[in-house]
Amino acid sequence: MKIFVLILLSLLQVFAFDVGNGKSVIIMLESPQGILQLPDRNITVLPHPVYPKEGFAIIPIDYYKQPQRIDTQWLKADERKNIEINVINSSYPTEVLSVDNSKVCPPPEVLQRIALEKAEAEAIYNHITPERYWNKPFVRPIDSITTSEYGSARTYNGVLKSYHGGVDFRAKIPLPVLASNDGVVVLVKERYYSGGTVIIDHGEGVYSCYFHLSEFNVKVGDPVIQGQNIALSGATGRITGPHLHFGFMVQGIQTDPIEFMAQIETLFAQPLRVAQNNEKSIDR
Ligand SMILES: [Zn+2]
Repeated sequence: MKIFVLILLSLLQVFAFDVGNGKSVIIMLESPQGILQLPDRNITVLPHPVYPKEGFAIIPIDYYKQPQRIDTQWLKADERKNIEINVINSSYPTEVLSVDNSKVCPPPEVLQRIALEKAEAEAIYNHITPERYWNKPFVRPIDSITTSEYGSARTYNGVLKSYHGGVDFRAKIPLPVLASNDGVVVLVKERYYSGGTVIIDHGEGVYSCYFHLSEFNVKVGDPVIQGQNIALSGATGRITGPHLHFGFMVQGIQTDPIEFMAQIETLFAQPLRVAQNNEKSIDR
């Protein structure tokens, strides 16, 4: 009887993780096989960069996701494990900004350009390159202080437009912008909102983005290594002043870059922590 109860308990065991809207969480798994099945999509389980016999999955949560419980299952061979994702409110602040009015209510002649640039970016972000180009933690792209965090709700010239999709670094004068990690350059372009833009594909659905640049040192298709000087910061696009905007897209979802880099860093932390992070085990 006692054994039966124990077996039943382990079968019903659920691992639960808390993650704020707009953030990502990394879940470490005992093997690099299978998928995490979410209600609306599947996430591939990836081999651990240091211990390839272990696995992990990156789960980015959309900024607009309301607090809720998301029941997921890790499916591999004939095994399944229940993993609960609890979306919690990240409580982002509000920012009020003044910019050139044409960047809030764009004139009709640029609407097509904006739509094309958006479609082009979405096509890039939704493509998942199967190989991984990096094997160490991501680093900040510029030697400067942060002036605006990810996630603040933004009112431009009195109109609530969106939220801040990345982190801003001070760059009053043009400063070298460095690749956050190894990858391949997939976009180098002057865009309406983001100005001079570079996007790097790091593989497995992870892209880093660098906006408002004044000069490019790379072209599409170039492989880059971490720390490589890819551009000069500037004041192009929708801006209140010169700075570097830095962001991450993960599996097509915009995510807090600082939190994402911190999560990736846990993969390189010693000792290996399988199924941990902010996980708590619940028996039902
Ligand atoms: Zn920004």
